Amino acid sequence: MTALLPSDWADIIGHVRVNHPNIVRGWFSQLEPVTLIGGVLHIRARNPLQVRYLDDHCRIAFTEGAQAALGQLVTASFETDEAASNGHTGNGKAMDFELSGHLEVNPDYVFENFVVGPNNRLAHAASVAVAESPGTTYNPLFIHGDVGLGKTHLLQAICHQANQLGTCANTLYISCETFVNHFIEAVERGAMKEFRYRYREVDMLVIDDIQFLGERERSQEEFFHTFNTLHQGRKQIILSADCSPAEIPSLEDRLVSRFNSGLVASIDMPCLETRMAIIRKKARLRCIEVDESVVKLVAEQIESNIRDLEGALVKLDALSQTRNGKIDLDLAREMLQSNGTSHAITVQQIVDVVTNYYSVRLADLQSKKRTKSITLPRQVCMYLAREMTSHSLEEVGGFFGGRDHTTVLHAHRTIGATREVDPEFDSVLRDMTQSLRHRRVEVAQ
Ligand code: ADP
Ligand code: MG
Repeated sequence: MTALLPSDWADIIGHVRVNHPNIVRGWFSQLEPVTLIGGVLHIRARNPLQVRYLDDHCRIAFTEGAQAALGQLVTASFETDEAASNGHTGNGKAMDFELSGHLEVNPDYVFENFVVGPNNRLAHAASVAVAESPGTTYNPLFIHGDVGLGKTHLLQAICHQANQLGTCANTLYISCETFVNHFIEAVERGAMKEFRYRYREVDMLVIDDIQFLGERERSQEEFFHTFNTLHQGRKQIILSADCSPAEIPSLEDRLVSRFNSGLVASIDMPCLETRMAIIRKKARLRCIEVDESVVKLVAEQIESNIRDLEGALVKLDALSQTRNGKIDLDLAREMLQSNGTSHAITVQQIVDVVTNYYSVRLADLQSKKRTKSITLPRQVCMYLAREMTSHSLEEVGGFFGGRDHTTVLHAHRTIGATREVDPEFDSVLRDMTQSLRHRRVEVAQ
């Protein structure tokens, strides 16, 4: 048995961070090397969820890192300190997160990693309340919203928190599809007794994407009875869906009214500030360094959902690894362009919008004229070209009358500064940006 030097461990972790940045999580700093025995490096994590994540995603990366750092053939193995993690649950009983390995629980989906904004405040507050005292506050709790807006994150955060606080001994977290499949299987195998026992004996039943229950008559019937049994026993029920209960197609009225009987909370698309805060949070979690200007650009351009926002960050990180490791505005523009996010915005479209607003001609913008009525729209064009296309400073300067890159930089700074002190002007620029984005969407369709 060999103990590992702290510097070796630092090398291993460093190797993983550099070569596999996408799998790195903030809690990696809590990992500890325990022993090196018979060619196996035993690494201890804080809880079984971390171990599961490491087993599923990180075995090769840590093995490579250990071999590089130690210069010998080693494999990495992950384990948890059973005593410590049992002590953590408060009641010593493991969470029943899965039924036959169907749904993975993500250790990153905890409340600390969830950014609260006006779009999700109620859903978040209700989730915290339910995790603290299941079965007594909002029952059922029904969270709905479009895809990629954080429903699964909140549901899993409730499970983590309830487990950590020891407020719930027996939590079952599954997807609706799993429920339906298990039901069908149980009917076929004549195993309804086991099925009912499994679902009706839990303290907290968490079902993701319950909209799949629509149009499945027999599963609805079974779920109705499961729901009633749990509810009467004051057991917590938490559901998520991509729409409100009444909007789930072909959902029986009695289920709609049951779902509406607790708290129904929606999650909407986050505003710019919340999107920026989410990018910062995700970047910290993945140990990625990103400039504020990049955070703002990406948050402005990606308005679809958080999953896309996160995807953009991962892509930026991957791209930066092939360059000098830096994530700057140029790289972000390139990524957005290749994403198709700013695909259809051309300088010509910018010129159309700006000349239309200021009632000037392109020929004036390209001329040597320096009157205010011409320089302002010219600078606005340069600013928007810089913000919304991936053309270089030289290209933009060249287009607007053969000017050099410092003129474009100056224009960009001047307009940016004016926006900050002049709300009316800022609102004009905002409208222009919006209208350009809408054109982009029209072109894409
Ligand atoms: P849904 O289940 O609504 O489709 P998810 O919960 O899977 O969405 O969220 C998609 C991604 O966005 C996840 O990585 C999640 O962590 C992230 N996310 C969504 N909302 C937030 C938020 N408010 N703060 C931090 N991350 C968020
Ligand atoms: Mg989901």
